[in-house]
Amino acid sequence: MTEIARRGALMAAATAAAALPLIGTAAAQTASSGAGTAATGGVPPQRGPNPPRFHRLKVGDVEVTTLLDGAMQGVNAGIPTFFPDSRPEEIVPLRERAFAIEPGLHQPVGAYVLNTGRNLAMIDCGGHSSFIPTTGQTLDALRASGYTPEHVDTVILTHIHPEHALGLSYDGVTRNFPNAEIIVTQIDFQFWTDPAMESRVPQGQRFIEAARRAIRPYDGRIRTVEMREGLEVIPGVFMVPAPGHTPGHVSFRVTSQNQSMLIWGDIAHQMVIQLARPRWRVGVDVDPAMGVESRVRTLTMLAEERLLMGGVHVPWPGFGRVIRDGEGFLYVPRPAQFT
Ligand SMILES: [Zn+2]
Repeated sequence: MTEIARRGALMAAATAAAALPLIGTAAAQTASSGAGTAATGGVPPQRGPNPPRFHRLKVGDVEVTTLLDGAMQGVNAGIPTFFPDSRPEEIVPLRERAFAIEPGLHQPVGAYVLNTGRNLAMIDCGGHSSFIPTTGQTLDALRASGYTPEHVDTVILTHIHPEHALGLSYDGVTRNFPNAEIIVTQIDFQFWTDPAMESRVPQGQRFIEAARRAIRPYDGRIRTVEMREGLEVIPGVFMVPAPGHTPGHVSFRVTSQNQSMLIWGDIAHQMVIQLARPRWRVGVDVDPAMGVESRVRTLTMLAEERLLMGGVHVPWPGFGRVIRDGEGFLYVPRPAQFT
């Protein structure tokens, strides 16, 4: 406590004790613990981390809620690994254009909830602090948004990376969504569970262990589906293949009435950089060249259709559009709306 704050607190205690003799002892204890007010010269304590965050809009009759799970912050040394095609003279101005948070690459982590009237489904479900300390708020955000994990009947995964799937289970035993069926492509499921595939995982054993921990408690509740354009995974939600980042990585188009929205997993992690340079390979992709093709195809489609979109690493609150910009693209966030 500063000297000024301490004196303020003592004065507040004295004033409160004099004015309210019956509760003077309690008031004095409160004041002397530092809980003063600006009016009495004290400053309230700092309030700590942000509360769980959610935001929503309608796509036709479907209510789409974004949940902010957290964020990931890299280090500068990791940039050449993540973007092996980048040169410092190119990436520095791009990062300045993005007002990049230093050091390294910063990316938010989110998840989406779809209330279609028939299903309460999630598209991805965030990470966990055991893997990335600054992630794992999806369940709290879900509750704050008015739903419980028990309400969720389906979790649709874009792929089985930790910050997309560890929200399924934090301990590898307990189902965080006890009533949910999990939908994932057969290709991605096999990739993360088949020992013969382990050598192909760029991030190695830590990611493999996390993927298996996430899905293990859902044994018997996992519906694997083929990776096929337009496959309707639940009513009104259609698959858009996007392989490369992982072999079974997919996006989903949510359609209701005459409206649509695309929600992607990892088509882009860095919206300013990767939309400006969509053909830069991503070093952590299982097949970086295929990842480029999926990114360019998805961004082209979004720009041509002027489609509303969202993605797990799209800046909060996770709704926007993509337009063409020279040789590349530009992300145009949709401002938060409250009606
Ligand atoms: Zn991701």
